Amino acid sequence: MSEISVQMTNKPGTMPDEEKLGFGTYFTDHMFVMDYQTGKGWHSPRIVPYEEFSLFPSAMVLHYGQAIFEGMKAFKTCDNRLVVFRTRDYLQRFNRSADILCIPNIDVDTVQAGLFKLLEIDKRWLPGKLGTSIYIRPFIVATDPYVGVKCSDTYKLFIILSPSGTYYAQGFNPVGIRVEDKYVRAVPGGIGEAKTPGNYAASLRAQVEAKKEGYAQVLWLDGVERKYVEEVGTMNIFFKINDELITPALNGSILGGITRRTVLELAREWGMKVSERQISIDEIFAAHANGTLQEAFGSGTAAVISPVGELSWKGQKLVINNNQTGPTSQKLFDAVTGMQYGTMTDNRGWVNTVTKL
Ligand SMILES: *Cc1c(COP(=O)(O)O)cnc(C)c1O
Repeated sequence: MSEISVQMTNKPGTMPDEEKLGFGTYFTDHMFVMDYQTGKGWHSPRIVPYEEFSLFPSAMVLHYGQAIFEGMKAFKTCDNRLVVFRTRDYLQRFNRSADILCIPNIDVDTVQAGLFKLLEIDKRWLPGKLGTSIYIRPFIVATDPYVGVKCSDTYKLFIILSPSGTYYAQGFNPVGIRVEDKYVRAVPGGIGEAKTPGNYAASLRAQVEAKKEGYAQVLWLDGVERKYVEEVGTMNIFFKINDELITPALNGSILGGITRRTVLELAREWGMKVSERQISIDEIFAAHANGTLQEAFGSGTAAVISPVGELSWKGQKLVINNNQTGPTSQKLFDAVTGMQYGTMTDNRGWVNTVTKL
């Protein structure tokens, strides 16, 4: 692979007020781009100004959705370093999604080197307040100018960076979730375990209906029996029942979250009883009825840990832990963010310093 070339912008932007960043709205000055062509492989890795780019209206991604993405973060530590968290794990998952969507694999080292160089160049955009970060969005789209269904012969990979505010502007408070009983997100043998735009397109109408009823998110059940819990759609889900931490096993239709993996590894290290297994919505309601449902929380890169205070299923409502953040949710949140912001040491090799600030 050739050297990563750099073309600097001549119109550097202004970093918005850190208090008003929100999520996914602002972008830094540059982006990383790479092209693929059958026979040539991935080539021309480069850093260029963040700007519009052109595609033919016939570009395949616009018609048949052959695309994948990732989502990870860079943080400013209390001792002034720019660090990333488990980057290689995210990039390896990128390749897993690529396999599922018939997209050629990337070389993880090249893309990681491109990302680190991009972060170094745009480091002035990194916000500093606890809870803020640069959200990193790598994605690949199929670019053949062809209106027909096949695997594309050309692709473009991008990495864009979005400085983001604290997810918990209103504090670390539990959310209400609606259990979806009509629509399904994914089925066994489908593409549910890939990070691909189509899964999100498929989730929109359920999201709209949940919002209408005042719920922040949708909890998906399995696509066959609508009985077993799968995930939240942007987060994996955990339940603490009778001191056992339970999350649905990865069955092919659930996205294998990196935060999920982090939670499992930490909880096992702390000696908790941890299970990856099938769990039905009936089991959760029964555990609530007999007083053994202690906590529920979602896990994902954006929110890290998101306590669930209320579940609604077919009109039945269930309040968990008095709608308060539970001790396990809090301990996990503190441990993960502690490593990310440098207040706790990481002895697992999850945190990598990209540059001093
Ligand atoms: C990204 C994502 C998650 C969470 O994964 P993390 O790696 O922890 O951010 C969960 N479900 C879906 C469908 C996702 O796309």
